[in-house]
Amino acid sequence: MHHSNARDAQVVIVGGGPVGMGLAIELGQRNVRCIVIERYAQPQPIPKGQNLTQRTMEHFHFWGVETDVRAARTVPPEYGIGGLTAYGTLLGEYSYDWMQRELVRPFYFTDNERLPQYATESVLRRRAGELATVETLYGWSAESVSQDDCGASVAIAEHNGDRHRTLRADYVVGCDGSRSTTRAQAGITQTLSDHDRLMVLLVFRSHGLHRLLARYPGKSFYSVLHPDLEGYWKFFGRVDLGSTWFFHAPVPPGTTKDNFDFRRHLHSAAGAEFDVEFEHIGFWELRFAIADSYRKGRIFIAGDAAHSHPPYGGYGVNTGLEDARNLGWKLAAALQGWAGQNLLESYSEERRPVFQSTARDFIEKAIEADRKFLEAFNPERDKDAFEREWNARKSGARSEVNAFEPNYEGSSIVSGLPGSRCSALGSHAFAARAGHHLAPQPLSSGRNAFEELGDGFTLLSLGGDDTMRGAFETAAEGMRIPLKVIRDSRGGGRERYEATHVLVRPDQFVAWAGNDASIDAPAILRKAIGAAN
Ligand SMILES: Cc1cc2nc3c(=O)[nH]c(=O)nc-3n(C[C@H](O)[C@H](O)[C@H](O)COP(=O)(O)OP(=O)(O)OC[C@H]3O[C@@H](n4cnc5c(N)ncnc54)[C@H](O)[C@@H]3O)c2cc1C
Repeated sequence: MHHSNARDAQVVIVGGGPVGMGLAIELGQRNVRCIVIERYAQPQPIPKGQNLTQRTMEHFHFWGVETDVRAARTVPPEYGIGGLTAYGTLLGEYSYDWMQRELVRPFYFTDNERLPQYATESVLRRRAGELATVETLYGWSAESVSQDDCGASVAIAEHNGDRHRTLRADYVVGCDGSRSTTRAQAGITQTLSDHDRLMVLLVFRSHGLHRLLARYPGKSFYSVLHPDLEGYWKFFGRVDLGSTWFFHAPVPPGTTKDNFDFRRHLHSAAGAEFDVEFEHIGFWELRFAIADSYRKGRIFIAGDAAHSHPPYGGYGVNTGLEDARNLGWKLAAALQGWAGQNLLESYSEERRPVFQSTARDFIEKAIEADRKFLEAFNPERDKDAFEREWNARKSGARSEVNAFEPNYEGSSIVSGLPGSRCSALGSHAFAARAGHHLAPQPLSSGRNAFEELGDGFTLLSLGGDDTMRGAFETAAEGMRIPLKVIRDSRGGGRERYEATHVLVRPDQFVAWAGNDASIDAPAILRKAIGAAN
């Protein structure tokens, strides 16, 4: 078949969920022309991914939607968005604070947030609509995806109609969720692990539950550990303050809407009776799945299309949005002619191990640890031993938040330590470390470094040797790498970077940091754009 070089867009994005819309904004703001294909005219009214980390809110800051996302919050700011873990029943004797994201707040530019996923999606759709570079086709489905030497094609069909089109682009990104057509069409295989469980998702109205939960002020989501569930959770969350809730938990195989008493299930999970008016009863398969690569030629996958897992710990939407952030600048660099030959491959190289680690070191580990704890300790058998262990878990819950620090230490495009790896397991620090997220610091102007970072690379030049700065500037110009230089002094908090020069990537990760005037600036930049061999 002959393919013309005519392009409908530079990038076609299949799927306009949070990840697809985020990627469209990221690309659109970088002047990349893209088209988003989304089956549904409106976001689906299921609360899903509600917890947005501080890091996700940084993306929203850079995408120009932070204010609107916060305004769409459904639980008023005076009321907290904290988490709580309880034993036995929600209202039982034992509970502790969980997922205290505020512990890592100093390492990010902005506060975390919590709102129903459809509310976030609406804001992202609105923002995408403001960008002349982004075209959205709502109500269309992608049916097939293919590629050849000079481009990729997506055949689309109207969801509730009979029109068909084929779109041609340089690249296609599948953000089409865990049953990704794009992934299947590209022939990307995935690895599953054996956690398959049928889960119920209930959305319901109740004022009584709000009254019962007055004893836990400032909490918005609650996981209940029960010996019967072997480490899986009964999970309650607020959709708004006082009237709407969601709940998910494993249910026996074969459970349907009509053969199970969900009201009683809720009451027994809570340990009390309260009014319940169902708005939605749905099911989904709890599973771990990871694509064996996030790329095949000109086709990429991101978000749930690349990885899926139980929504334990609120990693899903946050991980997917970081995929979009990682991929966006790399696609833009490739299309705008300053990417090295390995830059696009570094997307899968950096993001896959981070998800593997998230699944292994956080989600599966939590399920395992809970299962073992529930087997070994029971207040009815030995109250003292149970309480000692329960108290020890409280401090463990704190260290989990600190240890979740996705980083690309082992990436081929950062100048990190030899022998290091990309992982979600790390630690939070102010020092600028290659492969890690940059911590915010005030500049002497009074503005924060995060308010001054460029769209491309940024060199923080904090005193030291002028020749170093010059060497980076000359090299960047020669390679046509967009580089913004921020000159400042070392004091005022900036000494905490522990480096006079920090090279920051377009996604706010550190590519290189150092003090040594004898470094080879061109080599550092070549590596950062994937041009080193
Ligand atoms: C009950 C539940 C609770 C959750 N809670 C949390 C939480 O607290 N925190 C968290 O971080 N995550 C949570 N998650 C996970 C989170 O919802 C997902 O990680 C997130 O939705 C992933 O976004 P996405 O854009 O990758 O995929 P999706 O949201 O699945 O979006 C994919 C989009 O692609 C569209 N699409 C699919 N196929 C096609 C096609 N062929 N053509 C056109 N369009 C197509 C779909 O209509 C959809 O809009 C939860 C999930 C569930 C089910």
